[in-house]
Amino acid sequence: MLTRGPSSTGGVNKGPFLAPQVTVVGAGPIGLAIAWRCAARGLRVVVHDPAPGSGASHVAAGMLAPVAEAYFGEHELTGLLTESARRWPGFAAELTEATGVDIGYRTEGTLMVGLTADDLAEARRLWSYQQGLGLPVSLLRPSQLREREPALAPRVRGGALAATDHQVDPRRLVPALRLAAARAGAVLVTEPVRQLSEPSGGVTVVAAGCGAAALTGLPVRPVKGQVLRLRTPDGGPPGFRHVIRGYADGEHVYLVPRECGEVVVGATVEERTDVAVSAGAVLRLLRAAVDLMPELAEYDLVETIAGLRPGTPDNAPILGPLPGRPDVLAATGHHRHGIVLTPVTADLITGLITGEGTDDPLLTPFRADRFHPDSKEEDLWS
Ligand SMILES: Cc1cc2nc3c(=O)[nH]c(=O)nc-3n(C[C@H](O)[C@H](O)[C@H](O)COP(=O)(O)OP(=O)(O)OC[C@H]3O[C@@H](n4cnc5c(N)ncnc54)[C@H](O)[C@@H]3O)c2cc1C
Repeated sequence: MLTRGPSSTGGVNKGPFLAPQVTVVGAGPIGLAIAWRCAARGLRVVVHDPAPGSGASHVAAGMLAPVAEAYFGEHELTGLLTESARRWPGFAAELTEATGVDIGYRTEGTLMVGLTADDLAEARRLWSYQQGLGLPVSLLRPSQLREREPALAPRVRGGALAATDHQVDPRRLVPALRLAAARAGAVLVTEPVRQLSEPSGGVTVVAAGCGAAALTGLPVRPVKGQVLRLRTPDGGPPGFRHVIRGYADGEHVYLVPRECGEVVVGATVEERTDVAVSAGAVLRLLRAAVDLMPELAEYDLVETIAGLRPGTPDNAPILGPLPGRPDVLAATGHHRHGIVLTPVTADLITGLITGEGTDDPLLTPFRADRFHPDSKEEDLWS
């Protein structure tokens, strides 16, 4: 993306500066994917971010897991996750085609496991709920688990396969999106947006992650997550290929293997706003990880980091116009799911901007006015 600093007048054209038709606030995966889609449709797009890619996506594991993340009481969110995951193969192929960047998209699937009998009992309740929704969860005996992943601890009592839950590397995804957006003609301005301006004929998309609350008043709050990154001592690929999501003595942990030898171990879920890494969290994550996959004890610990998920009161994203501001679209609050939800969010918001998707039923449960009962009856599209 062409980059303009605060005082620069640079842009795609040397001629008179034309006001953007779309101003995107935030160059995380959500803002960049929207910028890419809109610019590819021929719209003039400017993206503002003082630190592109520095938000939650820098910490995220990159699981694309609508099945393993289908939790009780989140039926509508599960539908959106499933739809976005369905779009991921095409999205990944298109992005790679547009940029030549390998974004680490992998399709080996996800193994969900329980270490002890109690862990397995807890996991089975969730797996039967997921199966009840018609999601593809296949129960596996311990022997079948170890056929798939011999490196799992012999103590693991049982598990299930979510074959359609894939993964991508967010640290490759975001630069690829930035390049794709730039090639499509979008311009990046490396300064923050401090407040929303008055309506000026264009559309503003607030895709600022946790920064959305200060700009819009929407109920987006930071939810802290700590993760670790391990690396194989010889730099070769890890000794397992599936994403592993486990319950280990009551501790929830996931292990995400990357071709480059990295394993992401996560994550805590804390109602805190700081990004300090605590010794206790590292201890709990490492203990659970090694309980499930003993060879990880031999890996190098190369990074400990914390990030802030943009959470909402119902754990679901906020997509669409702000009440009373049809020119300002929210694309935020993606909480634990911003990576998997990137394709569908970009398509839905672009559809709102071009006018081709204003009545898409996928949007209805995620409108911004669901948190403002007084404005429920207002016709935001008129
Ligand atoms: C520990 C952890 C693990 C995760 N694992 C997964 C996972 O496995 N799968 C998954 O789908 N999701 C995962 N997530 C969630 C995912 O990272 C987020 O939902 C996603 O990054 C949200 O994308 P975003 O673009 O909305 O926000 P962000 O990635 O947070 O980016 C927001 C951008 O906006 C910019 N910004 C903020 N305020 C302003 C402003 N005023 N002006 C201009 N720019 C501004 C920031 O600098 C930043 O670059 C995880 C998150 C964490 C913390």
